[in-house]
Amino acid sequence: MVAMSDQTPQLSPSDLCRSCGLCCDGTLFGKVRLQPQDSPEPLRVAGIMVTSDHRGSLFKLACAAHQHGCCQVYASRPSNCRSYECKLLRRFKKGAVTWAEAAAQIDRLRRLREQLGREVERLRPAMGRASVAEIVQIVPPFARLAGDAELHKRWAPVLLRLVALRRLGLEGFHASRRPAQPEHLQR
Ligand code: SF4
Ligand code: SF4
Repeated sequence: MVAMSDQTPQLSPSDLCRSCGLCCDGTLFGKVRLQPQDSPEPLRVAGIMVTSDHRGSLFKLACAAHQHGCCQVYASRPSNCRSYECKLLRRFKKGAVTWAEAAAQIDRLRRLREQLGREVERLRPAMGRASVAEIVQIVPPFARLAGDAELHKRWAPVLLRLVALRRLGLEGFHASRRPAQPEHLQR
């Protein structure tokens, strides 16, 4: 049984994911790849824009089917969504982390993501809700930042939050530098 703090009612792993959604909302990953067995039709019906590249079909995160903490295509969700369990979820299932600790970790990452969104919106108003992976793409290259103090000053709050997000994401949610499932959601 999962250890709980005195005041905390017994909460399940599904409750944890419902309270989180960081693997669906563009915080931890930038896209989801479909596998040959996945049908894109139910996803399109739910408003997800499925596209393709040289490796096959995919869609970008934040996922349009992630609404109010729930997956609106749960029964038809892609196999990579189905199989994915982050490090935090696995630790919670084993009782290695309490609900309160897990909730605090989720909250920290979510607040950081919101701060990042606000900083990006200040610089690029249309990109405030972009995935973290997309935000990384618009940061000026290091060589330009290093040679332009004004540019560096403008981007510093974004850079600081990106570094903190990456660290918290890797430490708390990914088992290693690669996601648990090699073909899962990719940055
Ligand atoms: S990041 Fe982990 S805890 Fe959060 S919704 Fe995804 S699997 Fe669940
Ligand atoms: S299909 Fe469902 S599980 Fe997959 S990213 Fe979208 S909301 Fe999350």
